[in-house]
Amino acid sequence: MKKGIFLAVVAALGFGIYVYAQDKAKSVMPVAKEVPKAMSREDAMKLTDEEWKKRLTPEQYRILRQAGTERSNGQIYKEFKAQGGGTYHCAGCGTELFSSKEKFDSNCGWPSFFDPSKAKNVKTRIDRSGFMVRTEVICAICGGHLGHVFTGEGFNTPTDKRYCINGTALKFVPANGAGTTQKKEGEQKPSKESEEKKGE
Ligand code: FE
Repeated sequence: MKKGIFLAVVAALGFGIYVYAQDKAKSVMPVAKEVPKAMSREDAMKLTDEEWKKRLTPEQYRILRQAGTERSNGQIYKEFKAQGGGTYHCAGCGTELFSSKEKFDSNCGWPSFFDPSKAKNVKTRIDRSGFMVRTEVICAICGGHLGHVFTGEGFNTPTDKRYCINGTALKFVPANGAGTTQKKEGEQKPSKESEEKKGE
């Protein structure tokens, strides 16, 4: 009898660890040491649904290609908050979309930016789904769904816009090339490259 209880406890613990590991594995934002080679718009448009499915994780596919929304305040958001300076690229096509220079803490549970780092790479369109009228944010190169943008909420930023972006749609390239860094005071500097390219 005691042995049975012991085995049940071991099985429950094992299952708990398995579920935790699965959740962690699903929600980690990819981090690249070097700026990824971005796909051309022409190549991105040629990809079929099946090809996107092969290139992306199931969660990336659900967000980027099916306009899904990730869980708020999840593991990926915790990672985002801890990241230092760097650039954020489309997880679908590698195009630079945002940088840490435009990142701000809105406390909404999703990555927030007050502007794209490269305006030409981020497009918006009206989204009338879910009995609401919102402004959807998409990658201008591959058309992937990134999130929504809200204006005039009173945030003390240069634009008073909140680009509410799914972290799952992003790939992070740290400015120092050293992977995810813990945020420290005064460390949120953008890469020289993103500084130069700002406003293109
Ligand atoms: Fe893209």
